[in-house]
Amino acid sequence: MDRTGTTDQFGAGRYAPSPSGDLHLGNLRTALLAWLFARASGRRFLLRVDDLDRVRPGAEERQLADLAAIGLDWDGPVLRQSDRLPYYNAAIERLTAAGRTYECFCTRREIQQSATAPHGPMGAYPGTCRTLSAEARARHLADGRPAALRLRADITEFEIVDQLHGRYRGPVDDVVLRRGDGIPAYNLAVVVDDAAQGVDQVVRGDDLLPSTPRQAYLASLLDLPVPHYAHVPLVLNGAGVRLAKRDGAVTLADRVALGNTPEQIVAALARSLGYTGTTPAELLGHFDSADLPKEPWILDENGLLQPNLCP
Ligand code: GLU
Repeated sequence: MDRTGTTDQFGAGRYAPSPSGDLHLGNLRTALLAWLFARASGRRFLLRVDDLDRVRPGAEERQLADLAAIGLDWDGPVLRQSDRLPYYNAAIERLTAAGRTYECFCTRREIQQSATAPHGPMGAYPGTCRTLSAEARARHLADGRPAALRLRADITEFEIVDQLHGRYRGPVDDVVLRRGDGIPAYNLAVVVDDAAQGVDQVVRGDDLLPSTPRQAYLASLLDLPVPHYAHVPLVLNGAGVRLAKRDGAVTLADRVALGNTPEQIVAALARSLGYTGTTPAELLGHFDSADLPKEPWILDENGLLQPNLCP
């Protein structure tokens, strides 16, 4: 095992839900795609629970049960981020030892109110605490202000390559590595975990594409490999907004209560991707990751009211 907790060296894909509630059809579709990408390329498929944040009791169990109910399987035990704090802290120590971190005492409101860094990307942390004097630091500590730890980034943009989006350049700022409450930040944890688990294929919703340059940059600073990325289109409601619980019968439990079977749900997800089939295993024979719809799946109220989920 190396410093990231790596146990093996073979390629893998993964699905990494946050246990903040039940999975909806958009989440299930992304999970199905991540499984198909991994299995179709001979990779292992891993499940990780991103539970550093927003945990709702019972959500993890229901999420895993729903993934199994639609016919997804995974290799090895489920990894929980809450079990891996020493590895994140080791990565943070490494960056700190290299002079690449600094404490930040800014509140969320202060960051919102301050202008973006003069040469940084829009919305980026303006670097207020980058050059904090010893006196100011001591004052903040004496005031009991919690300190987050930030990356001292020496670039403002980083380019990644995505299977669906091609070359993608996006902002890199002084990203938070450890939050003010002492918990490692998602952007750091995901990088450490993907490397530790041998994940070389990251398939996830394209809402996460803008964070990816930061993560890839962090990986490069930690001498970790940058995975192959595929950010897949989301499922949207009739108003063109990302599908959410309030849109109606969107979870597996909701659909089963309406009389759907898990096979019908898989069939609807498959149809939205241009395939026919009622189990993930059946889809695998036809799946071609080069041939995916690039547009989101729009699921309006009419569609949701149909037992077969056809708009
Ligand atoms: N846990 C994150 C989420 O549910 C996804 C992390 C990832 O796929 O990298 O949004």
